Amino acid sequence: MKATVLNVDDNAAGRYARSRFLARAGFRVTEASSGGEAIRLARECKPDIILLDVNLPDIDGLQVCQVIKADQDVSVSRTPVIFLTASRLADVDVVSGLDAGADNYLTEPVEPSVLVATVRALLRAKEAEEELVRMNEQLRRFAFIVSHELQEPLRMVKSYTQLLAHRYKGNLDKEADDFINYTVDGVTRMQSFIRDMLAYSQAAEGGLETKPMPAQDALDEALKELEAVIGESGADISVEELPTVMADCSRISQVFRNLIGNAIKYAGSEAPRIHISAKEDGGDWVFSVKDNGIGIEEKYAEQVFGLFKRLHGRERAGSGVGLAICREIVEHHGGRIWVESSLNAGSTFRFTLPKAGVDRTAAAG
Ligand code: ADP
Repeated sequence: MKATVLNVDDNAAGRYARSRFLARAGFRVTEASSGGEAIRLARECKPDIILLDVNLPDIDGLQVCQVIKADQDVSVSRTPVIFLTASRLADVDVVSGLDAGADNYLTEPVEPSVLVATVRALLRAKEAEEELVRMNEQLRRFAFIVSHELQEPLRMVKSYTQLLAHRYKGNLDKEADDFINYTVDGVTRMQSFIRDMLAYSQAAEGGLETKPMPAQDALDEALKELEAVIGESGADISVEELPTVMADCSRISQVFRNLIGNAIKYAGSEAPRIHISAKEDGGDWVFSVKDNGIGIEEKYAEQVFGLFKRLHGRERAGSGVGLAICREIVEHHGGRIWVESSLNAGSTFRFTLPKAGVDRTAAAG
């Protein structure tokens, strides 16, 4: 099928000439002569690529590009945009154009064959990106189905091995007792791994129900679920006043649960001390969960958010999925998550969420 190019230029002669050689090169061409029309056609016709004049009579080309790139519909926001201009030629203009989200910035006169080759290159990149998105989605579905389907048989294996342990412990020889213990232990670990995988594939799917919600509600839910662990560890948890944010309460509660759970799990020799706070930053709130635990070497600060990445062995139970879940949830909200830490100096995990009234979920999607 022919790829469609939306050719936006208020200069009729230039637009016509460009449409002609694009059509000759095998593209279907749609035209717009103003910024407003370009935005409308980008949404209605979903072209494969947009050639955008910078100087337009109604809306500035940079602004048109920003609107398209921020569209809630990803099939619109992912459309490659090439700026074409005969007037804004300085380096600073190129920078502004690319910063507005464009994929390329060409200055006239442009040799038609160069323009066609550039269009083809960007279409190849777009196709590769779409394939990646498709494969990721397939992988996520696979992880979901596998973890979902394994839950039931595993539950069965676990309850029968527990029954065996209960009934026959001490009635057989010591070796048999050991075997039963190993089995129960293995099944328990496998079950928590499968549960984590399921939670990860659900977090990766997004599907958020965002509304203005007091962050304290999400934290309360997390603290309630962690009640037993907090009690056992003797953790001291302090909380500053938290704001209202635009978010899905149960998902943010999971972020707090994973971060606070980790702050307890990766405690040092002292009892865990955890401080939770938030501060304003433009249109966002930055939340912090600070602990006095064993810390993380700076070189691993990014890697710990990867799936299955663990820095510690069996002595601390875990599957390396908790922080990956946090990252999926925060990014689906249009936020960021990172850690500031060094070895033996505690860790501060920070994540941003949009203020109430600002919804970035679809754009992040
Ligand atoms: P898990 O805890 O199941 O291993 P996570 O994804 O939650 O998986 O964390 C990944 C790794 O990051 C952990 O294995 C641990 O090495 C490190 N980590 C996470 N949180 C902390 C923390 N608060 N202090 C020190 N290390 C941490």
